[in-house]
Amino acid sequence: MKLTQAPLTLAVAIAIVGCQNAPVTGRNQLMLVPESQAIAASTDAYAQVLAPIRKAGKVDDDAAMKQRVDAITSRLVAQAVKYRPETASWDWQVAVIDDPKTLNAWCMAGGKMAIYTGIITQLSLTDDEIAQVMGHEIAHALAKHSAERMSTAMASQVVLQVGAMLLGTSASSQMALQAAAVATTVGVQLPNSRAQESEADRIGIELAARAGYDPHAAPRLWAKMLAATGAEGKSDFLSTHPQNEKRQAALEELIVDMMPYYLDTSPRPTHPLAKA
Ligand SMILES: [Zn+2]
Repeated sequence: MKLTQAPLTLAVAIAIVGCQNAPVTGRNQLMLVPESQAIAASTDAYAQVLAPIRKAGKVDDDAAMKQRVDAITSRLVAQAVKYRPETASWDWQVAVIDDPKTLNAWCMAGGKMAIYTGIITQLSLTDDEIAQVMGHEIAHALAKHSAERMSTAMASQVVLQVGAMLLGTSASSQMALQAAAVATTVGVQLPNSRAQESEADRIGIELAARAGYDPHAAPRLWAKMLAATGAEGKSDFLSTHPQNEKRQAALEELIVDMMPYYLDTSPRPTHPLAKA
């Protein structure tokens, strides 16, 4: 083996050792970081992100809005837990952040969520559409996308370091790995990949339909988002959820399969949420 091939070989070895399949879709994932580690990092990040907002009195300050979001989210979580029963022990919670200018929502590893009032008020979201937003976000957590992104970041750092060492340049691998860890701690700030996006769309529309929310709202939500914010990257939500021109068409195609879940007349269970 030539030395220059080593980084690639290492990367392949990492990929083989750390692969798992995503729940629901079965997609192959690089998973070097255990989900428990992503959840621990998210717990700290959640507290850090919310602390200054809470201090400013902007968390859950609108009781009606909070109740509306909680009602929708608790039905979605009840469905999520059916896919992965071990997530019943997660500390599921959602913070409604009073920020009319921000169009964003996220769910960290471990079920810690937030939605900004801007996305609800600026897009005049219906309950069905809020369910699509939160269903999509919950799907990212359910499919371990934070741990996967952390793993990808870590693998690329290792490969870069090995490459630097082989080329004889001095670099502190410890520092680089720490930098990667810091960058990935707040996983909600890193963009999702296209594969993760379409996977979250697929899982999210099903969670919402099973929770009793109209699947037609899924393509409509993205149409509203684009109409309101223009091109990709002009809202926080679109910067972390790269837009794909095929997204609305793919969601439209899923509707027919989702309708039986939506039209099912059985009661829709709820899952208790912790106080955010
Ligand atoms: Zn997404």
